[in-house]
Amino acid sequence: MRRGAGRARYAKEDVLSILDAGLIAHVGVSTSDGPLVLPMAYGHDGECLFLHGAVANHLLGTGAGQEVCVTVTCLDGLVMARTPFHNSMNYRSALIRGTARRVDEDERKGYALKLVTDHVVENWDSGRPPSPSDLRKTLVLEVPLTEASAKIRNGDPVDEPQDIAGPWWAGVVPVVTRFGSPFASADLTADSSPPNPVIALSGLTPEERCNRKGG
Ligand SMILES: Cc1cc2nc3c(=O)[nH]c(=O)nc-3n(C[C@H](O)[C@H](O)[C@H](O)COP(=O)(O)OP(=O)(O)OC[C@H]3O[C@@H](n4cnc5c(N)ncnc54)[C@H](O)[C@@H]3O)c2cc1C
Repeated sequence: MRRGAGRARYAKEDVLSILDAGLIAHVGVSTSDGPLVLPMAYGHDGECLFLHGAVANHLLGTGAGQEVCVTVTCLDGLVMARTPFHNSMNYRSALIRGTARRVDEDERKGYALKLVTDHVVENWDSGRPPSPSDLRKTLVLEVPLTEASAKIRNGDPVDEPQDIAGPWWAGVVPVVTRFGSPFASADLTADSSPPNPVIALSGLTPEERCNRKGG
């Protein structure tokens, strides 16, 4: 990392803690029509990041066997400086680059899909198990976490020394993501409650959810 290198972290724990707390990955690939970046769910096991989609998925199909770039960002605050020129954001951001491998082995595919599912909401074991046809229709890619960096900004704005005593307000507006209470689907006929891990999410931030999982 060249610009803002003081905020760069290459420690794997930093990258993994951002992947744990994040919910959306922005996945970038080079296509014959130019670059394409799309938001996606993801999972990881500390060694690889996993992505999934339909077998017809254009981005994943193009990315298989290619160099891809994946970013995950957690927004923590809007940083307001004395001059808008120094406004910023508090954030934790991870970037992974690597060659995406298409996962075709059934066992590894099931392993990856459980990780992606449970990273978003833990219900792989409480929902209907996937059928062989579900698995055939799903494309899974894995990207090694060997080339990864994290960038983290927190704290106050950084103003010009001569502006500090000025009349302008400076500070931080926190941004907090929190899970709400689950509500049943309008067509729910099963006489069942949400699974316990889903009920337990209510009121938590993604970071609090990681701490509860111990991950
Ligand atoms: C929070 C979130 C999570 C998601 N998780 C997944 C996931 O885990 N797996 C998955 O397969 N898909 C996921 N999606 C949908 C994903 O972003 C793509 O829309 C989808 O994968 C289709 O990709 P494709 O390359 O086949 O698109 P195509 O159908 O080939 O797209 C054609 C064109 O449509 C436009 N387009 C496609 N997707 C988007 C988009 N999201 N926003 C704006 N324009 C778009 C672009 O111009 C694109 O070139 C998620 C979307 C969101 C917002």
